[in-house]
Amino acid sequence: MSYHEDRAAWFEGQGLWQHIPEADWRDWTWQLQHRLTTAAQLEQYMTLTPEEKAGCEFASHKLSLAITPYFFNLIDRDDPDCPIRKQVIPRAGEMQLSAEEMLDSLGEDEHSPVPGLVHRYPDRVLFLVTDRCAAYCRYCTRSRLVSNAQHYDFHPSYEKSLEYIAAHPEVRDVLISGGDPLLLSDNKLDHLLGRLRAIPHVEFIRIGSRIPVFLPQRITPALCEVFRKHGPIWMSIHVNHPKEATRELKDACERLSFAGVPLGNQSVLLRGINDDADVMKALVHRLLRMRVRPYYIYQMDLITGGAHFKADVRQGIEIIRALRGHTTGYAVPQYVIDAPGGGGKVPINPEYLEKITDEEVIFRNYEGRRFSYPLKSTPVPDATSADIARPVGGGLER
Ligand SMILES: *Cc1c(COP(=O)(O)O)cnc(C)c1O
Repeated sequence: MSYHEDRAAWFEGQGLWQHIPEADWRDWTWQLQHRLTTAAQLEQYMTLTPEEKAGCEFASHKLSLAITPYFFNLIDRDDPDCPIRKQVIPRAGEMQLSAEEMLDSLGEDEHSPVPGLVHRYPDRVLFLVTDRCAAYCRYCTRSRLVSNAQHYDFHPSYEKSLEYIAAHPEVRDVLISGGDPLLLSDNKLDHLLGRLRAIPHVEFIRIGSRIPVFLPQRITPALCEVFRKHGPIWMSIHVNHPKEATRELKDACERLSFAGVPLGNQSVLLRGINDDADVMKALVHRLLRMRVRPYYIYQMDLITGGAHFKADVRQGIEIIRALRGHTTGYAVPQYVIDAPGGGGKVPINPEYLEKITDEEVIFRNYEGRRFSYPLKSTPVPDATSADIARPVGGGLER
């Protein structure tokens, strides 16, 4: 697999939906109402593989099928290996359970003092405000509850969560997620953000959302005004492949940025989708051009029926090695494994450090060249103050 950034246009327009009035196309409620949610609807536009047909049938028991028309346009309907297609169209692999997989692979439910609030790290909480999304990622880490296909019956109590946060002064950071929080109405978000802002010890508020990617039409001026009003609100979006970086996404990111929302990106490393250094490099470059700072690359969580997405961790490490030093430092995300059972995110890095003793650190740079950084200082006995300005060893000549 190789991916050449130059050849990929910034897709824009209505694609298969040319016949729809532009005002409808740009209306996020139209996009939601016209989502493709059954195999039969998909087959109006494309031929599903037998694998996909089986996956679609199973989806209603695992994680609902839903794709916005906007995002469906990004699928290459002639290519069963299309990296967009594999993210949102179910495949038979979802029916295959592996021994190491878990429904709640990050132990979130155990760390929930009230339903919908996960308090794993000392100073921050994850606040799940809905179980619905604009479209469903087949590898969803929260597929046990998201879309309610498994009858989890997620009923978050905003009041109880707000009470908990207010009663815990150590919570300085609230991450609003779900499901997708941007499916809430502007009024609800305005209210929720206002309530959080009113808690004096909550100093950092961020939102995790894939709506800019699935439904950029949702990023309206009115929504941006809510963020500006309660700002700074930070946001992590979720882009996995450069093909998702469309004109529409770029414009949505611009609207958010101009409303004062700093943007980060979280990708999941997915086998046959983005577990490739060329693809990731093209992606992170596009993100920077959209004012988005690559934040995390996640190793796939051990969710049930997720094995067909699992990439090799060694490949993940090689991707980071291919980025660090070879491109802009801002473009290099942190690769992490979220510890199974609930230990939090742990950085997984290429090894640059070779040896560390009391005397020196031995390490390699991005080209593989070896360096030493001395830890001991050896004073030069007879040096005068003039020598300081013209250092004796290794300094710049003036
Ligand atoms: C990811 C996560 C956070 C936020 O972690 P950061 O490293 O600060 O981005 C907080 N709580 C939970 C439960 C999480 O999974």
